[in-house]
Amino acid sequence: MKTPQVDAMPGMTPLGLKPAKKAVMHPSITAERVTAAVEESMCGLDNPGFCIACGEDAEGVEPDARKYECECCGKRAVYGAEELLFYVTA
Ligand SMILES: [Zn+2]
Repeated sequence: MKTPQVDAMPGMTPLGLKPAKKAVMHPSITAERVTAAVEESMCGLDNPGFCIACGEDAEGVEPDARKYECECCGKRAVYGAEELLFYVTA
């Protein structure tokens, strides 16, 4: 039986590693774009979302959707606009 290795030195961070890993976001997805989509969805029936891998718009995405499959690039990188707001404004 092997015991899982636990980091014995919590104070030590390997060089070049950031403490928190942030999702890789397509550069075309900006706070302005996501905010506009959220506002639009509030006055309409649309459920906008974005693919963070290729930057495509997606439709019919639940506001809190995560990792839906993108119709454009096929990656599971479609997030609901409201969900993405947390990422782009954080
Ligand atoms: Zn995509």
